[in-house]
Amino acid sequence: MIPVSDRFARAHPFAVFVVAWAAIAAGETSTTDRDPRVLPAGNIDWATHGGSPHEERFSPLDSINKDSVAHLGLAWSYMTGSNRGLEATPLIVGGTLYATASWSVVFALDGKTGRELWRHDPQVPGWKAKHACCDVVNRGVAYSKGRIYSGTLDGRLLALDAKTGQLVWSTQTTDPGQPYTITGAPRVVKDLVVIGNGGAEYGVRGYFSAYHASTGELAWRFFTVPASKEGPHEHAELSAAAETWPADALWESGLGGTAWDGMAYDPELDLLYVGTGNSSVYDRAKRSPGGGDNLFLASILALRPETGELVWYYQTTPGEHWDYTATQNMILTDLEWQGRTRKVLLQAPKNGFFYVLDRATGELLSAEKFVHVSWASHVDLETGRPVERPEADWSKQDRYVAPSPPGGHNWHPMSFHPGTGLVYLPAIESLYLYMANEAFRFRPGLWNTAEDFTRLHETMEDAASIRFLPCGLTRLVAWDPVKAEKVWEVRHDSGIPGGTLATAGDLVFQGSGLGRFSAYEASGGRLLWSSKIGIDVMAPPVSYRIDGEQYIAVLAGTGGSAGAHATVFDHDNAGRVLAFKLGGEAAMPPVAKRPERSVSVARLPVPSEIVARGRRVYAENCFTCHGIGAKSSGLVPDLRTATPATHAEWEAIVRGGIRSDKGMPSFAASVSPADAEAIRAYVLERAWHEPDLVERFLDFAADRTCLPVSWITD
Ligand code: CA
Repeated sequence: MIPVSDRFARAHPFAVFVVAWAAIAAGETSTTDRDPRVLPAGNIDWATHGGSPHEERFSPLDSINKDSVAHLGLAWSYMTGSNRGLEATPLIVGGTLYATASWSVVFALDGKTGRELWRHDPQVPGWKAKHACCDVVNRGVAYSKGRIYSGTLDGRLLALDAKTGQLVWSTQTTDPGQPYTITGAPRVVKDLVVIGNGGAEYGVRGYFSAYHASTGELAWRFFTVPASKEGPHEHAELSAAAETWPADALWESGLGGTAWDGMAYDPELDLLYVGTGNSSVYDRAKRSPGGGDNLFLASILALRPETGELVWYYQTTPGEHWDYTATQNMILTDLEWQGRTRKVLLQAPKNGFFYVLDRATGELLSAEKFVHVSWASHVDLETGRPVERPEADWSKQDRYVAPSPPGGHNWHPMSFHPGTGLVYLPAIESLYLYMANEAFRFRPGLWNTAEDFTRLHETMEDAASIRFLPCGLTRLVAWDPVKAEKVWEVRHDSGIPGGTLATAGDLVFQGSGLGRFSAYEASGGRLLWSSKIGIDVMAPPVSYRIDGEQYIAVLAGTGGSAGAHATVFDHDNAGRVLAFKLGGEAAMPPVAKRPERSVSVARLPVPSEIVARGRRVYAENCFTCHGIGAKSSGLVPDLRTATPATHAEWEAIVRGGIRSDKGMPSFAASVSPADAEAIRAYVLERAWHEPDLVERFLDFAADRTCLPVSWITD
């Protein structure tokens, strides 16, 4: 077998660094530091994003275990004051819990009581919601030396005093004139704070940066894609990357590759790992007409943290074409691999393959499907490349492809239990209809995937004409990374998964899109405990110990792209932090019912050509948030139920931006006054056409087969 690193060394001269690392692969590492028998007495924190430098999301605490978990009860709760999605991993440092809510708000709580210690609202402007593909979320903070570091949706990196929440410094990490966002958690490596950003759907050039922790000054920046074919390039790696792009690439789109979530640092190897995102635009025939792998899209990069110099990379999806990010969380662990211990990096990116890489060298050890996958038949271990199926190319013909843009696994973190040797993976079985837009032209600051949303929206709106409902069903999959196979799974049959936590008590904790938070037996998958939260839980739980008591804490509140319009619920989404302990007797905060929604405008005759125009403009501008046929059933309003007062202010809302503070920005740049009125006509038509609203959607979803199992042939 030819190691993948050799192939890359031939293709790209800068990858010769990997040769120097090949010798380190067989190091001996003990796992006794994770053995619960040697746990120190006293309080146990959760001080880094992934729970340890290895980002395993494993807690060595075991007083909450298989036998005692039945006595788990609520210790305390804290209302975050937001009703949008919550995705943060809380940190616990010195008994204080630090987390983030929607709109990049940071807060600190007493980990034992939930009492608020401070709260910092960075005042993100409401219009910025327009550039957040997937809700105004934030995945948490980093802690180092008495400071909290946190990113904001409008691209700032903040240093806060951990005791008071007072701002120490703030740095703008992005060009505010461009549609960048930060939703990911920073990482502190030595004396540097590393942060990436998102925005590929809107047309940006991906990069991530390291700042000096003491001052907020930029130390280095790594661009994930070149700005042009010929240069000059900001750093040497881009000269090699430029060879994988044609001269006629769609440079004005920025090309994407944003590093919006997964990072990890191995102190022993002194390597920083960063996952990069999908392309801008999705359709490679438009983005990169001359072909090419398009480095460094959808890749795992290993860098020297002090300089940002690339040591090795592995591209999961060469020539990315389906929104298959490799930004998913990465776990660094040691596995017994064919008779020797290997330091590996585990990732399950959106593309549906579970990867095991040697993290010293980047050598690919294994890549197997963990959900239904139709875009590639397999990954060739000799070349390290996926073998694409021709029928997954949607640039010339409409195609159903699995997984969908939300991926086989998204940001919801997976965890690893060193005792069972299993990874607990929030997987999504999904399918999507990709439709190319022949008339596509890049529109700065707007949604730029080169899909034909007018046709896609029409097809989905006319449910009877669609073969399969493009949707996702979530699973908790226990995956053996050595055997590359599923050991057990739990089917949630809801669209929203929750991140996972593994503990030494033989437990896996996970929330679900069914309003519950549950514990499963890590070794066998049995449901051992479940608490009715009432709202959906997406965020990953953590565990810590204070005064001899073990706690499990998690944020609850749904959202994300699905939560905006496709989650069917009739209740309010008031965000909360929940902490559980054995014998906890606090009352679960109530969940209020949402008021009944109904159509409250009179039926008026509207010419059908105006409705048709409105449908088209709606598809291009509104559909990704307000849902198919204007029937959002999630956080974003169902426009069919807009009141007469809203209709009276229609143009001021759509073009004037008077509801910017609620996350509805002005669309004056892409919607003319006549277009705004046409959208209104279309919405009215939908309101009269289908007055029974949510019920109708439920019937629709219940009738459909989400996955065409007979069609996918793997
Ligand atoms: Ca994306």
